Amino acid sequence: MFGKGLITGMGITIRHFFGKKATFCYPEEKLTMTEHFRGGHLTIDYKKCIACQLCAIQCPNQAIKLKVVTDANRKRHLESYVHSMGRCLYCDLCIEGCAPHALSWDKDYEISTWHKEDLVHQVMTDEDRSYLAEVMTQAAANPTPPPVPKAAPKPAAAAPPAAKPADTEVKPRE
Ligand code: SF4
Ligand code: SF4
Repeated sequence: MFGKGLITGMGITIRHFFGKKATFCYPEEKLTMTEHFRGGHLTIDYKKCIACQLCAIQCPNQAIKLKVVTDANRKRHLESYVHSMGRCLYCDLCIEGCAPHALSWDKDYEISTWHKEDLVHQVMTDEDRSYLAEVMTQAAANPTPPPVPKAAPKPAAAAPPAAKPADTEVKPRE
């Protein structure tokens, strides 16, 4: 039939025109990233972190730089945590290796920039720094006494002197 293809095509167009949209109006509308999306800024739950530094050690591209301080109770805390997004492979090794699950992505996909300095991200927030200062002050005010060193093991009783081997006379061969 003449024009059958045109009618079929128009039918598809009209169905999609009134149907659910497959596109969205970026940047006014933003996509919600999936649960396992890797990207954006690294974020830390500071109170969960045990300052073990495994995330930095595991990073294959040295994208994480940490500084650790020890309080008066010999407990370790992060003093600074810098994530170089320009070096990051988004491999997720740091997050997967963090035993207390303190790390995550903020899933912000709008991180492109003209300046590479903007890709250096301070992971610790002002709130984390205030918490650190508070913890250090409290630890300094209530230091736990140092552990009592274990008593040194007593030296073993001196062994009796070994008996001298009997002198053996070597007779010259005849
Ligand atoms: S691996 Fe986790 S707990 Fe250890 S320093 Fe990194 S963020 Fe903190
Ligand atoms: S995602 Fe991979 S490359 Fe990026 S900081 Fe973590 S371990 Fe390093």
